[in-house]
This record gives sequence, C-alpha cells and structure tokens, in this order.
Amino acid sequence: MPISQSYKKRLYPVIQTIADHYQTPFHIYDEAGIRSTGQKLQEAFSGIDCFKEFYAVKALPNPKILALMKDMGFGFDCSSIAELRLSRQAGATPDDIIFTSNNTSGLDFSEAALAGGCILNLDDINLIDSVPVLPDLVCFRYNPGARRTGNEIIGTPTEAKYGVSHDQIVAAYRRVKDKGATRFGLHTMLASNELNYTYMVQTVQMLLDLITVISKEVDITFEFINIGGGLGIPYTPNTPELDLTSMANEITTLFTDFADSYGYQPALYMESGRYMTGPHGVLASRAINRKEIYRTYVGIDASMSALMRPGIYNAYHHIDVVGKENTATEIVDVVGSLCENNDKFAVQRELPVISTGDMLIIQDTGAHGIAMGFNYNGSLRPKELLLKIDGSVELIRREENIEDYMATLSFEEDTLSL
Ligand SMILES: *Cc1c(COP(=O)(O)O)cnc(C)c1O
Repeated sequence: MPISQSYKKRLYPVIQTIADHYQTPFHIYDEAGIRSTGQKLQEAFSGIDCFKEFYAVKALPNPKILALMKDMGFGFDCSSIAELRLSRQAGATPDDIIFTSNNTSGLDFSEAALAGGCILNLDDINLIDSVPVLPDLVCFRYNPGARRTGNEIIGTPTEAKYGVSHDQIVAAYRRVKDKGATRFGLHTMLASNELNYTYMVQTVQMLLDLITVISKEVDITFEFINIGGGLGIPYTPNTPELDLTSMANEITTLFTDFADSYGYQPALYMESGRYMTGPHGVLASRAINRKEIYRTYVGIDASMSALMRPGIYNAYHHIDVVGKENTATEIVDVVGSLCENNDKFAVQRELPVISTGDMLIIQDTGAHGIAMGFNYNGSLRPKELLLKIDGSVELIRREENIEDYMATLSFEEDTLSL
C-alpha cells in the first residue's frame, strides 16, 4: 500500500490548482501524515521509560520538516556539518542531536563536538584519540560482523564500512572510560527498508545482551541503546506494512525483563528517516511527450535529479495518473530527459493510457527523494511544497535555477605555475 487514502483524498482534488499556481514538477509533503506517523511511533513505545526518535535528517533535509520533528519532541540524526547546522537552526539542543558519521574528519568533529555540542557516536576506535575533546557522554556504533542481514542496501555487516567490530567493542569502552568519559550509549544500524519487524526485536535483544557484557567487564552503565533507522515502508501495492505494534510490544517486553534483572532501563533511541516521511511525499509531474519505438515511452517534466531511487536501486515507486483511475491501460516506460538510460521512473509498467498534459503522481518520495538529487547533465532539482493541516499549501524550497547551477563558476582566479 503506497501513500495513504487520506493523503490521496486531500491532495488529488486540489492537485491541478496547486500545479497551476506553482508549476510542475514539485515534491509535496503531507503535514498531517507526518504528524500521525510521529504520534503512532511515540504511542507504540510509551511502555518504555524513555523512548526518543532522532529523525534521520538525510531522508528529507528541509527546515520546515525538521521544525515539525522538533515540535513533536524528536531529535535529529546527523552525519555532516550541513545536517548539524540545519538541526541547530531547527532549535535542536545538544541532547537532541546524534552525530553518526563514518570516515570522520577533524572538521566534522570541530563542528559536531566543539561548535554547539551533540551526542557523539564514534564509528571507529581510532577516533578516540583523534576527537579534539572527548565528551562526557560517548557512544560507539557497533558492527556485529557475521550475522546475516538479508538486506540488500546495507549488505552483510562484515562487508559494511560502518562501526566498531565485535572484538574491539569492550576495549573501546574501557579506553574512553580511562580517558574520562562518564556516560555511555551503544548504537547499531543493521537494516534498511526492513519490513520484517522481528529483525528490529533481535537487534534490541543483541544490544541489551551486549551492554550487559560491557557493563560487567568495564564497570559502567548505559544511558541508552540506539537501534538506528531502517524501518521499512511498503513501496509496492499489496505489500503489508511493518507491524509497528507487535514490534513495539516485543521490544517493550525486552526492556521490562531487562529492568527486572538489572534494576534499571536504558533509554531506547531510534533514528527513523524513511518510516517517518517516506510515504508522506509525492512527486507531481506532467507528461510532456509520448514516443513509440520498440517500447512506448512517456516523457515527463521531472528527471532522476528529483528521485534517484528507481535509477540506482531499481526501486519501485507507485504512479497514479490523476483523473484516469479505472481507464484503459497500456505498458510504458516513464522517463526523464537525461542522457542516461536509467533516467526512468517506471519500466514496463501497466498504467492508464497517458496523454500529454496528464498529471502523474509518483509516490513515496518523502524520504531519499529530493535529498538524493543531483545536477548531472545540467539537471536542476524541483521545488518542495508542504500541504499543511489547515489545508493550505506552502512553498518550502524553491526550484534550482541556472544561476544556482553556475554559482560555483564564479570564483577568484587561482593558477599555480610549476
Ligand atoms: C540512513 C541512516 C538512518 C536512517 O535510515 P532510514 O532507513 O531512513 O530509517 C539512521 N541512522 C543512520 C546512522 C543512518 O545512516
């Protein structure tokens, strides 16, 4: 089940009016949907003493969206200086930010730790010595190694570039304790777009077991475990949703059992990106050409600069043709304008017969959509709109223009004679 019936019901009747005013193409996000998912997440985990979602900024790095997250009491998961700045501009305090980078530079650390503070999630033991100031509260990202993830995007942990290995993890905490750290957390992220909830339950079990071992060996206690993101959304019709309630109930039981055994509960942190915003965004684009060669191609006024996922992951994004529900269909490829044959939004898809001017709604673009956009072939990224709870629409990012594209060509001459 791609985007919700509720979003469709509110969006489709007004989409032509919105398009007439703002011009296609654009991504448009649903405030009501984002808030309702946020509330669902908080209610599901309300049986745990302290649960906090840190929205993964990379999924949809727009200040208005981050303001919604902040308003719901969420923090932010950041991996770059720009993401840190956006989070701080959205009002995040140091406790609201988890900085999880890998291949971290000194510059990243200065921004993360020194210029404003955050919860620092270290990705490697060598960083213990290179971080300019070791904070009081230290967290490591754990990579459990040989454990099948069955998850294509992240792959098997032994081949993943992330985290501290199983053999290093106890020593890592001992080392930061010796260097003066007094507060501790443990992080891992083993899935991406995972719809099988039992996987997340196993991850929690693994982390609770691990903090028990580390606590005993190093004589420390843990303030939180952080299971990262990776909760999946159904992109294809008829795929069941992730069973959030069962997942939360089983995880809550693990936390209750832990408290019974050890007399305290760590907080549970999560860094959902896709799950929070993915289904609450669509890309609206008009058909501008039809072409019949060996296949039938429908050319639209957006390109993969607005949505990379079909091109790079061969990902399915459901498409509606507004006003043509239940009309005759044909098999087509829906394409952009780049000189790149994977610039396609759909390949050999059965869709209503599309004429020039028809409005296509490409669904589930609320995460890793505009954020993965790029400028290859001189392509420019589209604007972003927000459908607000009061029914109004707000422009929350303008489209890129030629001046933006040319901006880095304006610089001081700098020639080195050798
Ligand atoms: C990408 C990422 C997330 C969010 O992943 P989703 O699949 O969007 O939930 C969370 N934490 C870290 C460290 C990430 O790199």
